[in-house]
Amino acid sequence: MKTAPPALEVARTEGCRLHLADGRTLVDGIASWWTACHGYNHPHIRAAVVRQLERVPHVMFGGLTHRPAERLAAELAALLPGTLDHVFFTESGSVSVEVALKMSLQSWQNVGRPEKRRILAFDDAYHGDTFGTMPLCDPVEGMHRRFPGSHLAVERAPIPVGESARRTFATLVERSASELAAVVVEPLVQAAGGFRFHDAEALRFIREVCTMHDVHLIFDEIAVGFGRLGDALFACEIADVTPDVITLSKALTGGTLPLAATVASRPIFEAFWRDDAESALMHGPTYMANPLGCAAALASLELFAREDRLSQATRIGGRLRDRLAPLRTVPGVRDVRTCGALAVVELDRDPDLDWLRTRFVDHGVWVRPLERCVYLMPALVIDDVDLEVLCQAVERVVTEWSTRLEASD
Ligand SMILES: *Cc1c(COP(=O)(O)O)cnc(C)c1O
Repeated sequence: MKTAPPALEVARTEGCRLHLADGRTLVDGIASWWTACHGYNHPHIRAAVVRQLERVPHVMFGGLTHRPAERLAAELAALLPGTLDHVFFTESGSVSVEVALKMSLQSWQNVGRPEKRRILAFDDAYHGDTFGTMPLCDPVEGMHRRFPGSHLAVERAPIPVGESARRTFATLVERSASELAAVVVEPLVQAAGGFRFHDAEALRFIREVCTMHDVHLIFDEIAVGFGRLGDALFACEIADVTPDVITLSKALTGGTLPLAATVASRPIFEAFWRDDAESALMHGPTYMANPLGCAAALASLELFAREDRLSQATRIGGRLRDRLAPLRTVPGVRDVRTCGALAVVELDRDPDLDWLRTRFVDHGVWVRPLERCVYLMPALVIDDVDLEVLCQAVERVVTEWSTRLEASD
C-alpha cells in the first residue's frame, strides 16, 4: 500500500533476533508468523537440511518416495493420537486444509454418500487464503470479506460455549447431517481470525455431536500445533479429543522451509484404499513432500524430543500473563488474554496499524498487530531478557496509543 511504511530489509537472522540491513536489530515477538519455534538459524536444523541438499534436494513424489518423507510420516503418526496415521504432504497450510476438505468430501463419495458435501466452520475462524479455504473464514470479521462465496457450501455456527451456542451448533448439525461432510475448527485457539480461546469442553461437545450424526471432525492445528500451547505438542492431546483429520504446517519445519501435512484417521484412509482408479484422492502438488522440508521437520521433531520446549512454552506463558495483565486497566484496552506461549492485548477499536507497527520498530521489537489484536507468539526458546524487551515494548506502545486516543477524544 502507498501509505504503509516501507518493508525493512533483513540481512541476517539469529536466535530471536532480526538484524536489519541498516544496522538495527529487532527482537522478534512473532517468530515469523509463528513458524520459528526454535529460533532462527538453529544449527541442528541447518545441518540436517544441508545434508539433505547434498543427497536429494527434491524428487517428484508420484511413483517415487524417499526416506525423509517415510520417516516424517511415521513419526507424525506416532505422535498423533488414535488412528491418525495416514499422512499427505503439501507445501502450505491453506493447501493442507483444502486436502482435508477433499479427503472428507471424496471419502463420503467413495462410500456411496455423495450428498454429504457441506462443511461447517465457526465464527471468527481462519483457515487460509485460497478459494477453497476463504469461505471457511469469518465472512464479516475475517480478512476475506471481499471474496465471500465459492462452490463450497459452508454452514456457520458460533463455537459451542454456553447453552445457547451449544444448542445452535447441535441443531444446525442435526438439521444438515444428511448433507454435512465435516466440521472444521481451530482447536482451543482461533488464531488469525481474532485470537479467541475456547475450552476443551467445547471441543468434546463438537466431537460428540459430530460422532452422533456421522460427520467428520477436522482440527486445523496449523497455528497451535508443535507446543505453542505448552502442556502437549498438539491441542488435540491437551483437549483429549481425537479428530478424524488434522492439518499441520507453520512450525512443522521450525520456520525454515514451506511444508504442511494433512493426517487422516484409518476410516477415512480406508475409503480410498480400493482398486478402482475413480476412488483415488486426486491431489498431487509438484513439490509434494519436498525432501528438504521433510529433513527440516525431522530435525525440528528431534529438538522437541531432546529439549523441553513444552516447559519453555509454559514458562513463557506465565511470564507473559504476569507482565501484560496490568494493561487491562488501560483505557482503550478491551481484554488481555494468554494461552500457552501466546498473549493478546485486544484493543476496543481499530487502531492505526501503520502507526503501531512503526512504534514497535522504534522500540527495537518486531510485533505486527492483526486488526485489533496486539499479540506475542515468540520463539519457544526466547530468554528472559528478550521476553522482557518484548513485554516492555507492548506495555509502552499500547499505553502511548491509549494516551493519544484520550487526547483526541
Ligand atoms: C496460517 C494458517 C493457515 C494457512 O496457512 P498458510 O501456510 O498461510 O497457507 C490455515 N489455518 C490456520 C489455523 C493458520 O494459522
